Amino acid sequence: MSKTVFIFHVLTQVGLDSINKSNNNMTFCPDFCNFVRTKKIALMRHSNPVDSKNPNAYNGEVLELNTTATSSGKKMFIESYGCQMNFSDSEIVASILGDAGYETTSQLNEADLILVNTCSIREKAEQTVRNRLEAFQGIKKTKPNVKVGVLGCMAERLKSAFLEEEKIVDLVVGPDAYKDLPNLVAEVEAGRDAINVILSKEETYGDVQPVRLQSNGVTAFVSITRGCDNMCTFCVVPFTRGRERSRDPKSILAEIDTLAQSGFKEVTLLGQNVDSYLWYGGGPKKDFAKASDLQQKTAVHFHQLLDLVATAHPGIRIRFSTSNPQDMTRAVLHIMAKHPNICNYIHLPVQSGSDAVLNAMNRQHSRQEYMELIDDIRRIIPDCGISQDMIAGFPNETEADHQDTLSLMEYVKYDFGFMFMYSERPGTPAAKKLEDNIPEEVKKRRLQEIVALQQEHGRYRNAQFVGKTVEVLVEKASKKSDAHWSGRAQQNTVVVFPKEHYQVGDFVNVKIDSCTSATLLGTALDFGPTQSYHHG
Ligand code: SAM
Repeated sequence: MSKTVFIFHVLTQVGLDSINKSNNNMTFCPDFCNFVRTKKIALMRHSNPVDSKNPNAYNGEVLELNTTATSSGKKMFIESYGCQMNFSDSEIVASILGDAGYETTSQLNEADLILVNTCSIREKAEQTVRNRLEAFQGIKKTKPNVKVGVLGCMAERLKSAFLEEEKIVDLVVGPDAYKDLPNLVAEVEAGRDAINVILSKEETYGDVQPVRLQSNGVTAFVSITRGCDNMCTFCVVPFTRGRERSRDPKSILAEIDTLAQSGFKEVTLLGQNVDSYLWYGGGPKKDFAKASDLQQKTAVHFHQLLDLVATAHPGIRIRFSTSNPQDMTRAVLHIMAKHPNICNYIHLPVQSGSDAVLNAMNRQHSRQEYMELIDDIRRIIPDCGISQDMIAGFPNETEADHQDTLSLMEYVKYDFGFMFMYSERPGTPAAKKLEDNIPEEVKKRRLQEIVALQQEHGRYRNAQFVGKTVEVLVEKASKKSDAHWSGRAQQNTVVVFPKEHYQVGDFVNVKIDSCTSATLLGTALDFGPTQSYHHG
């Protein structure tokens, strides 16, 4: 029987208030080729009109995979919102429910099961999901047997309230309960509501081989940690994704081996706080102090994981996200400098340039320490791209604090930025202890100033590339011209150049001739050094 897998992703986390135009081609990947081989898939891409104004959105590429696998004949429609972690989780969900016989579809009217993988990071993200749920109501009216499930952070935050408040929701599943989905879906099919929002101290989905959705067959996400222990006062993540735990390096390496064998050329190691990665045989990071001497001595830290992965696959580019400044060690920088295949790019959110605000946010570093880290990055990896996350209008933020943010930006001159107005999240320490007292128009104005400065710095950084040659990994045809390829330099900047004889997945040396604020335009010279690992 023909099986159609069709998934729909929308990125709202890096929302309209974010300006990093160069990052809009972060894509979903993984061992797609393997999947193609084993399940005979044909690939088609479709444009998703939702959120098309968002320069950072995945802009709704929809992927259709036709397979010949047998199925139960039931179809699911999955729509995802939020961070890369959520997209990566949707790949896990597709794998688990795919094994349970569920086909996927892009056509809402074909779906027996509609799943929304949700984000709680800002109020706007939650509102978007509520609007979508209202839209699904119309479908339920005409097809009462259709079931609607809410997955992810909003499910975790609102728990059973979802079943009571949103009458159309039949299924509520938190980020650590996806293995229970086949049972929960069976419950729902039997006419009962189902909920599992138990957060785990162990679950890393290390044994689930994700179905690579929206894959270009070149770049893939690989989750290495789940949860977060940082307790930044503004952030809902520790409450929705639980305590931080790391995945066994063996299963990470095995997943990357599979990706490499399937032809993938780049992996992004993913976690809320990757630099905090710590494998000591399993268990939450907070219990490391209780581990045995042997476990402590043989523990694998992030720089060691990076070293392992980069050494095992010199022909694969390695990226990682997100780094929290307080956890990023100099050892990581030295490993990056040691391996040419670890991309010279660090996403290093700072949120504010003011010590008073950093302190109120419970960020565990000062402005000075952050600047010293930046200095060390520039010294150890001179051509490193650096990007930021910034929050405008945190409670009690003064004009002087805001000026500190702008002056820190001047100091760093980031390549990219993801910038947001502060959004109070129920249950967070900031919501409990601090009044959301910066007027909306002040937040907006400060955000605009931050965005304008970032645009200036983005242009400045891009101009530095003109006349230089960079190695580009080709990902896809340029959106604007079918005669051009689009790929990324190590620094994560998008590079567009005439196709000539090069192919998707090639590493190409491109001489940069000119730039816009978001893109480098160049001419191919020859294959780049990494290509030699893939031919002969
Ligand atoms: N773990 C990373 C860190 O904290 O460095 C990123 C976590 S979060 C998924 C991504 C970004 O969303 C944050 O870096 C922050 O800029 C923004 N964010 C998180 N909570 C927010 C809130 N309550 N209001 C506005 N922006 C928020």
